[in-house]
Amino acid sequence: MEIAVLGGAEEIGANATFIKIGDCSLIIDAGSHPRNKDITFAPNLHPIQEEIISAIILTHSHTDHIGALPILAHTFPTAKLYSTEPTRDIAEIMLRNSTKLLHFGNNPLQVEEYLDIYKKPFIEVLLQLIHTRRTKEPFSVQSVLNSTSVEATFYDAGHILGAAGVLLQSKQGSIFHTGDFLQENQYVIGKADFPNHHIDVLVTECTNGADKEPISRNEQELALTNFINTVTNDNGSVLIPTFSLGKMQEMLRLMNILMNRNSIPTIPIITGGMGRKVCELYDRYCYTGSRVNPGFELADIEQERLPTKELLKGRYFKTPSIVLTTSGMLHSGTPSYKLAVEWMKRPNFGIAIVGYQDPTCEGFALEQSVKGEEFKFGSYTATRNCLLERFRFSAHATKEQILSVVEQHSPNKVFLIHGEYESCSEVALSLVQRGFKGEIVIPTKGKRYQYSLTSEASQFFQ
Ligand SMILES: [Zn+2]
Ligand SMILES: [Zn+2]
Repeated sequence: MEIAVLGGAEEIGANATFIKIGDCSLIIDAGSHPRNKDITFAPNLHPIQEEIISAIILTHSHTDHIGALPILAHTFPTAKLYSTEPTRDIAEIMLRNSTKLLHFGNNPLQVEEYLDIYKKPFIEVLLQLIHTRRTKEPFSVQSVLNSTSVEATFYDAGHILGAAGVLLQSKQGSIFHTGDFLQENQYVIGKADFPNHHIDVLVTECTNGADKEPISRNEQELALTNFINTVTNDNGSVLIPTFSLGKMQEMLRLMNILMNRNSIPTIPIITGGMGRKVCELYDRYCYTGSRVNPGFELADIEQERLPTKELLKGRYFKTPSIVLTTSGMLHSGTPSYKLAVEWMKRPNFGIAIVGYQDPTCEGFALEQSVKGEEFKFGSYTATRNCLLERFRFSAHATKEQILSVVEQHSPNKVFLIHGEYESCSEVALSLVQRGFKGEIVIPTKGKRYQYSLTSEASQFFQ
């Protein structure tokens, strides 16, 4: 058995894990890097360029897991593509919008050779090629020579609609790849439902591994409630920049819950962007996967469409409202960005930052801004006069949940990925402190690690 992390080692972005079992080679995820504009936009395929890939299996449809699918599918034409059904449908929205994938703010991707395969005809064919599989229903992945058969099974991972961990079983041993996961209920998506038995090799995400204290969802909920009440009591509106996939749906449902509880006033909710399309898929699959309230539909929440063409004439400037927009990182030119510029001029308005802000993005500059002081917001010199507060509603496992997944599977080896080095090493340290006896690997990107069930002290070597 061989494993090589081609992207997502000591970082978050361009996730892809190569796994070879016997002569069956497959890749889990085909992500793009949210920041990189050069060749590192895609996973590093160099170490596996001689391989004949049987399958590319997608854990979920965030772009750091599917954004480079056109490139991987093009590079490995023998690979069959697999995902859950919701993941395929969301991928359709994300990839059809793929020109956006190639533009970051106003900066286009600077790799000419990739541009063609992100055009419509290739994307349309690609989408037809994705085979969907249900969770907990094993399917077989054959090596190209038919000499090795690997049984693959999806397991609900929480996180977002369609997200799944992948179990691979064969005579050579078992591997479980968590993908991105969360072991607690959010507001729409329920918690992960992973296999409950020994696994030889575990590959787990570590996004939140460096958090010293777990963030309490209830405390964050209360803080956001207070923030909304402070703003609306002063006749202001609240802007919540969100990501169209996951954060938008969870925040929309949270607003609905808070209004139903009378924790915040019942005021207009305005939603916009691609997030609304994703909401439709959340509703189409309202009985699928891990759900907090199976059957609940987001369309039943009273909401108005963001007037994208007349943003500055929206009713939110006249009457207290809650506005959920994309982009989550407030990239220049997006509705989030344009509205934030207007929000900042109004001392009684408030911006609630609920998602991760990359240090290079406009949202990060806004988050760091000091009230009443000038700062650079994209190309604009802004002064923030409105209120602003940061909240954390992570869809990723806490460190404690990562440790308990390792305990649950008692693997011989664990690979720590999808996290900065600090996050992975904190998880490694905690595992050692808890007496974990297996081998811990914080993989180097592109390095091939070998593992054999038959050798007593399973060895990893380059
Ligand atoms: Zn994700
Ligand atoms: Zn991810």
